[in-house]
Amino acid sequence: MSTGIRWLEIAVAAPTEAAEAIAEVLSRYAPHGVAFDYGPISAEEGDWEHPPLPRDTLTVLAYLPIVEGWEEARQRVEEGLWHLSQILPFPPPRFRVIDEEEWAEAWKAHYDVLRVGPFVIRPTWRPAELRPGELLIELDPGMAFGTGAHPTTRLCLRALAEWLRPGERVLDLGTGSGILAIAAARRGAAGVWALDIDPVAVRVAGENVRRNGLSDRVEVGQGSLEEALARGEGFDGILANILAPVIRRFCEQGLSVLLRPGGWAVVSGFLEGEQEASVREALEAAGLRVCGRWAEADWVALGARKDAESVRGELEPDRREMRH
Ligand code: SAH
Repeated sequence: MSTGIRWLEIAVAAPTEAAEAIAEVLSRYAPHGVAFDYGPISAEEGDWEHPPLPRDTLTVLAYLPIVEGWEEARQRVEEGLWHLSQILPFPPPRFRVIDEEEWAEAWKAHYDVLRVGPFVIRPTWRPAELRPGELLIELDPGMAFGTGAHPTTRLCLRALAEWLRPGERVLDLGTGSGILAIAAARRGAAGVWALDIDPVAVRVAGENVRRNGLSDRVEVGQGSLEEALARGEGFDGILANILAPVIRRFCEQGLSVLLRPGGWAVVSGFLEGEQEASVREALEAAGLRVCGRWAEADWVALGARKDAESVRGELEPDRREMRH
């Protein structure tokens, strides 16, 4: 199933106090998020009960797919890191082009079991034990975006754990690896329609849905808002973790029409500040009430509701939900 794609490995040797800020810059361009490599730990340094003290430096790693526009992305990464290094000094990044196989190995070595709210995201090559009440998501993201390592994915998972009610019907626009669609089904959604314009994502998401035994509740297809509008079905919840301009366009082109009265939308993929303000404005212009906000690093997810009272003249019990 090799696609023959090559990857640019970016490695930054970081003093511990700069690592988070460096990771944030890299995560803007790395579809699978960022990994921290603390280097080999020798037996003398510690054991399970006496862990070694944190080191002064670690390596922050990220992988950029060498696809159209990658040179610009590399340049932005370099600029972002340079600016940061003026405040928190660290050496310049090291770059290395690797093939898909090397990438898969490098990535798998760093990609670990991740817990977000009630969800446990287990890469297929790692073991994980579930505690009571935890919900398992088994994932092989392959080339598709959505491992849970990116802040926006985590924000959507948290939002979804808070807002989704069992039995709801959910639309996941830009499903990537299928992670949010699978999470919604695990959390009790009666049905999820997961769409992506990228055929690689559609294939990967389909495989992940089958791997999780959810084919009866999650339908994966190629498409976007247009396909959803064409089918004419209403949803209780919509998830869209893409990018500010895409979400704004969705708002203009009928996102809210797809929501049933009382339904919710959780959107992410943008940064706080101007991008957030523009998305908020677009949601409101579409007749939705923004009443949820989740943030991590500079990334934001916004939650909006289609008020039942604006349609039926009555209040929903949860209309006071505020999370600013
Ligand atoms: N939902 C996953 C993946 C998000 S990445 C997560 O939260 O981690 C964004 C995905 O949106 C990518 O897979 C990309 O192919 C897809 N995408 C980009 N533009 C789109 C559009 N206009 N309509 C539908 N999907 C789109």
